[in-house]
Amino acid sequence: MSRTFCTYNLNNLDSIRQVRRLPEDLRLALNVVGRVFPFRTNNYMVDELIDWDNAETDPIFHLNFPCREMLFPEHYDRISGMVRSGASTNLLRDAVQDIRHELNPQSVHTMDATLPAINGRKQHGIVHSYPETVLFFPAEGQMCHAHCTFCFRWLQFVGEEEDIFASTDVESLISYVSQHQEVRDILFTGGDPLFMRTDILAGYVDRILEADIPHLNAIRFGTKAITYWPYRFLTNPDADALLVLFEKIIAKGKHVAVVANINHPREISTDAAQKAIKRIRSTGAEIRAQSPLLRHINDKPEIWSALWREEVRQGVVPYYQFVVRDTGARHYFALPLVEALEIYREAYSSVSGICRTVRGPCMSTPQGKVQLIDVQELQGEKTLLLHYIQTPFADQVLRTFFAVYDEKAEWFTDLKPLRPEDASFFRNFSKQF
Ligand SMILES: *Cc1c(COP(=O)(O)O)cnc(C)c1O
Ligand code: SF4
Repeated sequence: MSRTFCTYNLNNLDSIRQVRRLPEDLRLALNVVGRVFPFRTNNYMVDELIDWDNAETDPIFHLNFPCREMLFPEHYDRISGMVRSGASTNLLRDAVQDIRHELNPQSVHTMDATLPAINGRKQHGIVHSYPETVLFFPAEGQMCHAHCTFCFRWLQFVGEEEDIFASTDVESLISYVSQHQEVRDILFTGGDPLFMRTDILAGYVDRILEADIPHLNAIRFGTKAITYWPYRFLTNPDADALLVLFEKIIAKGKHVAVVANINHPREISTDAAQKAIKRIRSTGAEIRAQSPLLRHINDKPEIWSALWREEVRQGVVPYYQFVVRDTGARHYFALPLVEALEIYREAYSSVSGICRTVRGPCMSTPQGKVQLIDVQELQGEKTLLLHYIQTPFADQVLRTFFAVYDEKAEWFTDLKPLRPEDASFFRNFSKQF
């Protein structure tokens, strides 16, 4: 089936028959919460993925459509009161801005790492996070086919011009990577870099390939398109050209990794998603899958074991299980770290070895990727055992350290070092390359 991309936001939502039939309170909540978080959906989500008969409990509905509980009650009451009383657009916009500020909108660069200076100038849209990997935020790829309600990069969608972190400067990227022998991977990220038209994407990739950087090993594309718009790889006018682009990178001797955001096994149960996966893999590209652990969406071990098994069945490599980041509607999605560990352990212990390429629960912090490994007793007291999977400080990778046990802790900043020798693992700065 061929499909033309059709996008919906609050302005044209009533044109969706299934939305018109939703219970009144769900629709009202959508119209309130959808003003604070950037709401967007499309005809694939609406017609093929969401279970409208069970919208209230459907994980895919909650992945895409905001609900009342995603705002704190005082924020919800404030906006719904204004909507009800017909407040002016300006007043509403100011109130929405205030609330967004309170929800810890994280700019991509202060959150992730230091920006490399290239030719003496700090670069916007390029991040050197770990020694081997440079992130590139192409300006045309800071959009997505639909929006996740848990989105940790929502500032990219709602921010003022200066908040949006992006670049078109592929020459600076190339010059930086060429001069840094330790960089092996360029990771296109967003938003969704595969939202961009193939000819624009090819403009970037072709320049990288022409530069012929011998130490460059892989090009990665972070994307949600496999599950939010699989037709990107099937029937979009430039779908074939994208696959040809992957083949071209591979023919140049580089690995292509499509890093897919897959939150629930249902997302890869449709015909279209399965065909998209097959087509991508037919180019020689590898698909690796990652997702945060999200309350209301995938907070059961059975969901994760089903997800990893189904990924492997379709030839997708399970990669990371993340802890949901401390921004936006986080209070709706978050679980305590110790609960996340139990879910991970139970799911992991029920899948075969080829699914166990996944690492979790993993926190992507400014210091690096921290994995909670175990709850251990030390001198009769419970403690948390952790290690870094990734950090700019190579001497700390896979070295275990302890944090004070805290059954409520949801993020790395909630934790405290147990012993003096653990303190250096909590230092709060990023390394300058
Ligand atoms: C996860 C992440 C990466 C990629 O890490 P890998 O372990 O190589 O997949 C790069 N930069 C940042 C900031 C990240 O959070
Ligand atoms: S795919 Fe990523 S950037 Fe896009 S809406 Fe979802 S979390 Fe945000």
